[in-house]
Formats: sequence, C-alpha cells, structure tokens
Amino acid sequence: MSLLITGGTGYIGSHTVVELLKSAKDEEIVIVDNLTNSSTKVLERIEKITNKTVTFIKADICDTSALEKIFNQHKIEAVIHFAGLKAVGESNEIPLAYYQNNVSGTLTLLEVMARHQVKNLVFSSSATVYGNNISPLNETMATSATNPYGQTKLMVENILFDLAKSDEAWSIACLRYFNPIGAHQSGLIGENPNGIPNNLLPYVAQVAVGRLAQLQVFGDDYDTSDGTGVRDYIHVVDLAQGHVKALESLAHAKGTVKGCQAINLGTGNGTSVLEIVNTFKEISKQAIPFQVVPRRAGDLATVYADASLAKELLGWQAKLGLTAMIQDTWRWQSENPNGF
Ligand code: NAD
Ligand code: UDP
Repeated sequence: MSLLITGGTGYIGSHTVVELLKSAKDEEIVIVDNLTNSSTKVLERIEKITNKTVTFIKADICDTSALEKIFNQHKIEAVIHFAGLKAVGESNEIPLAYYQNNVSGTLTLLEVMARHQVKNLVFSSSATVYGNNISPLNETMATSATNPYGQTKLMVENILFDLAKSDEAWSIACLRYFNPIGAHQSGLIGENPNGIPNNLLPYVAQVAVGRLAQLQVFGDDYDTSDGTGVRDYIHVVDLAQGHVKALESLAHAKGTVKGCQAINLGTGNGTSVLEIVNTFKEISKQAIPFQVVPRRAGDLATVYADASLAKELLGWQAKLGLTAMIQDTWRWQSENPNGF
C-alpha cells in the first residue's frame, strides 16, 4: 500500500515524511509536488535522515491526468494534502492564483480520490479560520476569514464537511495548525522561504545569521504582557507527529476520526515577539537588532489553541518547548545560511 503526500517536499511535508518513514510501516511514500516553493534537494536529505527512499513525482495537483496516472500506478490508501500557496500578503495581490491552487487544486485531488475509492484524507488547515475569535481557540467556534488565503482554507474545510456528509466512507482530519517553527534536529531540513520571509521566525533567523539587517516588530501597544503580539508556536516535528497520529486515527485504521473532523494542532501556550527575540539571542549568541514599527494590518494581539481535542481524538500532544524550537531553527539556519 502507498500513502500520497501532496506538497511533500515543502517545510511541513518534508518533516512529516521523515516521521512517517520513522514510524516503520512498510507503506510506500509517494510525494507529488510541483516544486514552486521547494527543491528536490529535500529528497536527498530525507533519505539521509531516514535511510529510506521515497517515490517523487513532479506534478501539479491541478493536473487531473497526472493525478489519475499516480492513482493508477500506486495503490494509494490515504492522502495527506499539504500542497498549496500560503503567503497571506501575496494572496491579497494574486487572489486568483490562491483560489486556483488551493481550492480548485483540492477539488481536482478530491475528484480523483473519489474515482479511485480513496476516502482517507488529512488536510492542512490553519488557525486563520478562527477569524477574530478570542483565544483559547477551540474547534466548536464559528469560523471566518479576513484574506484570500484564509478564505481558501475555509472554503476547502466547508467542501470537506459537505463531502463527508454526503458519503460516510470519507474520513477526513482537517488539522488547524497554529504557528509551526523549528526544524529537524539533524539540521538537514528546515524552512526555506523564497525571498524576504513574511513570518517571524525565518525573519529573526535571517537577521541572526546576517542575511537581513534588522527585524521590524509590528506593534508594542497590544494588550499583552510586553505589548507585542502573542502566538502559539509549535515545533514542526511535533506537528509532523500529529499527522502520523491523525493518519492512524482515520477510518481505515483506528477510526476515532469519523466523517470530517477539525482538530487544532498547537501547544496551548502563547509566546510574545519579544520573548522570541530574546530567546533567539540567548541561544544563537548573535545580536538581533530590531525596531518597533506600527501594527501590521489584520494582526490580532493574542492567538493560541485549546489543544485538548487532539489529545482526546488522536492521543497526541506537543512535547517540545520553545528552547528546542529555537535551537533547531538556529542549527538549520546557521548550517544552511542560504537554505537548500
Ligand atoms: P511550503 O510552501 O513549504 O509547502 C507547500 C508545498 O506545496 C511546496 O513544496 C510547493 O512547491 C507545493 N505546491 C504548491 N502548490 C502546488 C500545486 N498546485 N501542486 C503541487 N505542489 C504544490 O508550505 P508549508 O509551510 O509546508 O505548508 C504546508 C501546508 O500547510 C500549506 O497548505 C499551508 O497553507 C498549510 N499551513 C502552513 C502554515 C505555516 O505556518 N507554515 C500554517 C498553517 C497552515
Ligand atoms: N511579526 C513581527 N515582525 C515580523 C513578522 C511577524 O513583529 O517581521 C509578529 C506578528 O505581528 C505576529 C507574530 O510576529 O504578532 C507572528 O507573526 P507571523 O507572521 O509569523 O504569524 P501569524 O501572524 O500569521 O500568526
């Protein structure tokens, strides 16, 4: 049997593939990725870490015939669907590309899955679907979106809920990620953003390594302990292990996830921007110059998860703390200053 991983050469996908290979089942791992935001170098690194091989197919999830070919050639049992575009700012500039890739691409994938009777799916959703709800955020809260990227996640979630309602053979985990950071402990794989990073951690890491001059802290007048924004940062390896557990909880395996189920993957803890900067400075022993600038449009003061459902349904909880997250980010960044 095989597992199909869309977007498997990307940041979260590559760490998940490593954890899947480590979980020592003898399934074939098939990665499909169009390499818009990743490199095949990741494949060598995955093989170096695990001593196992993966099957890689360069294709776009919007390409029905390429997907048909994959499902004809491999006995796919379940799909983990990471492929998509993920930059909020860019999604305001090129919304059609976001709807096309994230919504239409997912519909194409779902149609091919249905035709081949493959109805087990883990989907990469995001805490962004909670809109302006007050933290801790739990899965029963109403969802909304404030930008095209968030809309695509919400639209796909709604499609998945409708699909599961229409046919009880579907078993779907919509994993709502909080803020994934960190890298594999080996220092061989990590986040490799194109151009100037939008997210806090890759930005701080590039300041520490001397690629960027200084961080801009977006606002210090929030109602938080030090005035800067608070987020629920989660180690990418913990997140990856959450996917392994989710896969094991779908109907074809244990069956604790029935129909379509939204599940938060977060730690339940909040950390401010200045706490991140100070911890990074301590661990890397590098200066992290920063300047406080006005708030970024659309940012909330505080976002963190109620992480209890994942524990209950998947038997999963995050294990790694902020020190490990930043040590691993720094190892990856300092050993690979220019990425892959
Ligand atoms: P990433 O960009 O590193 O990985 C996504 C991968 O998908 C890339 O390798 C890219 O080349 C590929 N891809 C994009 N469009 C494709 C297409 N049409 N066909 C085939 N491959 C395609 O991103 P990531 O951080 O690993 O995120 C993975 C998923 O998790 C995304 O769906 C993202 O929206 C979601 N997510 C990420 C975060 C985060 O902070 N990183 C938070 C919440 C949700
Ligand atoms: N942030 C910042 N400077 C940056 C990038 C982010 O001060 O260059 C802040 C941002 O305002 C938020 C936190 O860091 O409070 C996390 O931002 P990120 O974009 O990484 O995640 P998100 O806002 O999507 O949760």
